[in-house]
Amino acid sequence: PADPTRWNVYKFGGTSVASAECYRTVRDIILAAQQSTPKMAVVVSAMGGKPKVTDLLIDTVMLAAKGDLEGYEQTLSVVRKKHVACATELFSAAGAQAYEADLDEDINNLRDILRAVSLMRYSGEKIVELVSGHGEIWSARMLTRLFQDGGHDYMFVDARKVLFVDESGESGPEIMWERSRAATQALMAPTPTACPVITGFIASTADGVVTTLKRDGSDYSASIFGRLLEATGITIWTDVDGVLSADPRRVPEAKVLADVSYSEAMELAYFGAKVIHP
Ligand code: ADP
Ligand code: ASP
Ligand code: MG
Repeated sequence: PADPTRWNVYKFGGTSVASAECYRTVRDIILAAQQSTPKMAVVVSAMGGKPKVTDLLIDTVMLAAKGDLEGYEQTLSVVRKKHVACATELFSAAGAQAYEADLDEDINNLRDILRAVSLMRYSGEKIVELVSGHGEIWSARMLTRLFQDGGHDYMFVDARKVLFVDESGESGPEIMWERSRAATQALMAPTPTACPVITGFIASTADGVVTTLKRDGSDYSASIFGRLLEATGITIWTDVDGVLSADPRRVPEAKVLADVSYSEAMELAYFGAKVIHP
């Protein structure tokens, strides 16, 4: 049984937050869990669906680098509409308007970046990371507002402000545990009762440059925050009933595995089973 005095991390990926209906379901799952573990910490990815918001954002940079102004504007507008439609369905007129105002501020900033990319006909990895990480911000804001509308004590946590990754090493990015722990504690201390809704996927480098944990990295975010918060457990919710013997999209007769050893999980992840990030 989970210890109610400690944090319990629930992670919801893009497949779980693809529509307004999905956000309501996610909220209800979390509120139900709160009955037994009041300290819920939530990690959320960008809106999924076809196409995923993260894919669309990456597309905008590729289009800009080709000088396709109309193309990236159109893609940005698809992304914007998806979030506005969702907010309109979930919130009051005033709530949706407030959500939209924040969204438009970010989108205008993205427009400036994309214009620079299109003028230079150049894009770099850091630009892609900066742009593609916005889906998590908009998604976490959506879910936070949904909780707050219902009078629940939840706060939005922008992981770029608390999760630091050292990318200078040769053996790949390393989590800066002490700095991240101190920053997370400092951010949460003023509102000790509030449950955090944390953006998956995104982080900052040691120099404060926005980065990501790479594709499908929100599972990793959930694990990192689980450790930072000394959580009793991490639950990765998704659109299938568990870890299966094979990808059910390719092998419909695949069966749910009752339990999976660490090395089996590593193998599955290594060979690209999207259900869990390596
Ligand atoms: P999320 O958006 O929740 O992170 P993902 O699409 O990243 O979801 O991962 C879930 C998907 O992983 C499932 O829909 C399934 O098609 C796929 N998948 C691949 N291999 C497996 C496996 N062995 N067990 C379960 N799901 C798997
Ligand atoms: N949204 C990011 C991606 O599509 C991270 C994630 O979904 O885990 O890669
Ligand atoms: Mg995933």
